[in-house]
Amino acid sequence: MEVLYRSTRGKGETVTASQAILQGLAKDGGLFVPNRIPELDVPMEKLSAMSYQEMAYEVMSRFFTDFTEEELKNCIAKAYDNKFDTEEIAPLTKAGGAYYLELFHGATIAFKDMALSILPHLMTVSARKNGVKNEIVILTATSGDTGKAALSGFADVPGTRIIVFYPQHGVSPIQEKQMVTQKGKNTHVVAIHGNFDDAQTGVKKIFNDTELAKELEEEGFQFSSANSINIGRLVPQVVYYVYAYANLVKNGEITDGEKINVTVPTGNFGNILAAFYAKQMGLPIAKLICASKENKVLYDFFRTGVYDRNREFILTTSPSMDILISSNLERLIYRIAGENPEKNRELMASLSAGGKYEITEEMRFSLEDFYGNYASEKETAAAISKMYGDTGYVIDTHTAVASAVYEKYKEETKDLETKTVIASTASPYKFTRSVLAAIDSSYDKLSDFDQIDELSRISNTAIPRAIEEIRTAPVLHTTECDVDEMDGIVKRFLGI
Ligand SMILES: *Cc1c(COP(=O)(O)O)cnc(C)c1O
Repeated sequence: MEVLYRSTRGKGETVTASQAILQGLAKDGGLFVPNRIPELDVPMEKLSAMSYQEMAYEVMSRFFTDFTEEELKNCIAKAYDNKFDTEEIAPLTKAGGAYYLELFHGATIAFKDMALSILPHLMTVSARKNGVKNEIVILTATSGDTGKAALSGFADVPGTRIIVFYPQHGVSPIQEKQMVTQKGKNTHVVAIHGNFDDAQTGVKKIFNDTELAKELEEEGFQFSSANSINIGRLVPQVVYYVYAYANLVKNGEITDGEKINVTVPTGNFGNILAAFYAKQMGLPIAKLICASKENKVLYDFFRTGVYDRNREFILTTSPSMDILISSNLERLIYRIAGENPEKNRELMASLSAGGKYEITEEMRFSLEDFYGNYASEKETAAAISKMYGDTGYVIDTHTAVASAVYEKYKEETKDLETKTVIASTASPYKFTRSVLAAIDSSYDKLSDFDQIDELSRISNTAIPRAIEEIRTAPVLHTTECDVDEMDGIVKRFLGI
């Protein structure tokens, strides 16, 4: 049965999956949601015998119903190949009383790779299916992780170009090195003289510039976006929750049908929403445990029903979770509002006007699948240190937030029986300095690359290719610009 997509703020008009992927955001500013969540109607016995790629097809084909089998299987084969350093793609590691679902084995060693390695292929197929002849130009502003994962996903994908803007002094030295050494004839990286908000605002301005869009169209280009509200990023993330469950069954850790908890270190609410979709499909999930850092807007929301972004923005050692507006939450709001776009529009209008909204009692009741809590900087560091001390396993500063919050969940609810999967969203090598500092403060005097060698030694793991490569890789991108020059730079890159 066909699944169509409609906007969380629309009047009920629908588009196909490929159209939703091409558009990214709906024209009315809403997010595309499926008009029904398909059922996972494959026996667990069969799923447990599948490779990651086979399971990816089972899950994605149920959402992307206008893709042919061949199209989708091609996208999957191109995405989940030897860019990943393990055939399992998303392996599970049992440590400290939970199962860590390692989502960091891709090209940029963070979980964004799980979706950004397939999005470029979904997008070019979508363009073809809809008769789009233009070259797709991806514009992204990044505070570090997304930019590199998008560059790596789109590099040398025919029919696409990618331009990434990052704040010149606003990313870590390793993150900057990762971006400016990016290979690929269709990739462009620009350091802007400003902060992340300036970069983001600049990109939005370019997107909304109708004059520029016309010029582009004449030259055979059109803009698109790779950010995490694209349904083409959300659906691929459902796959690994099914995969984790099937593997737990296969390995005899749980019985078929046994409910598990899932704990997710959360920022923009995309990853945990994918777990919620997996549950809606019929995967036996008990609680969705939403782990936050000090920017604990979501924790407050789950406790009080009030979403309030009016607060100080705190920078932490888990930068990918430092967010005050979790864009993907809108999809959940729409759902608990009984799929009522008017109610959702009203709440989102209140968010953009006053930075705040409150949901009804009835809507709060529908949130019972979720549990929210947060971990401080100190608790996060303690979780890394305790895990290493107890088991020798080293987790990163995002995964550690989930680990700490899972402990709080057990203490508060006394649910000690339900087996729990923790989404492990980044390799410790991506945040080596903070990770080592949590284990022993004396590491701080080592240089970045000496720290990496030390991490390899104490964790007894190989240094990921992504890190090895940038030790010696030549710098290929040196463009910088002022914020008001961004549109000019885009035109220059495109030769118009
Ligand atoms: C993006 C990111 C997150 C947050 O994921 P959301 O889907 O935005 O909630 C957590 N950890 C890491 C390492 C990330 O890169």
